[in-house]
Amino acid sequence: MKEQKNTNPKRIAVDVDDTLVESVTDFLAFLKIRKNIDVKKESFTTYYDNFAGMDKKEIDSLFLEFENTLDTFDFHDKATSTLQKLKEEGHELFVLTTRPTEIKEKTITLLEKEFGKNFFTDFYFSVEFGGSKARVYKEMNFDLLIDDADHHAKAVAEIGGNVLLFEQPWNKTMMEDPNIRRVKNWEEIGKLL
Ligand SMILES: [Mg+2]
Repeated sequence: MKEQKNTNPKRIAVDVDDTLVESVTDFLAFLKIRKNIDVKKESFTTYYDNFAGMDKKEIDSLFLEFENTLDTFDFHDKATSTLQKLKEEGHELFVLTTRPTEIKEKTITLLEKEFGKNFFTDFYFSVEFGGSKARVYKEMNFDLLIDDADHHAKAVAEIGGNVLLFEQPWNKTMMEDPNIRRVKNWEEIGKLL
């Protein structure tokens, strides 16, 4: 095993959708076919909630239907190589997602297909913790969350946690917070950590 030079290994939680993989683009293409709704990614000024006249329940249901159709992940550029580098440097990596448990096994399988088994120390589905990523962050004693959702970033920052916020159209208007650092892509994340 490679000698670990890192004297400050971190416990890093990584979100899946629109952080590690591109989901929204395919979801919008799915919506166009399924509901004849034409929404552009750039027009998202808030998260998935309340757009095109649909409430969160309907969107969640459509999102589950969409994710069940997926047999591959479209990983963001340099996401895989950056996480591999972080792992080699001695950081401990976890997956932390709000995906519903109906697609838990499928999600883990697709991630293991990309990274191999035992790459991530564990997989956490926040719905099993009352939906709160901040709660998982605290209970699992994480040092950092990498995520695109402003509400999770804010909640984690409020309990004193640290967040790298993956820039997406829906988090553009988020207030500045000393515990939240915005990042443009995985290359930037690799340089920061
Ligand atoms: Mg996300």
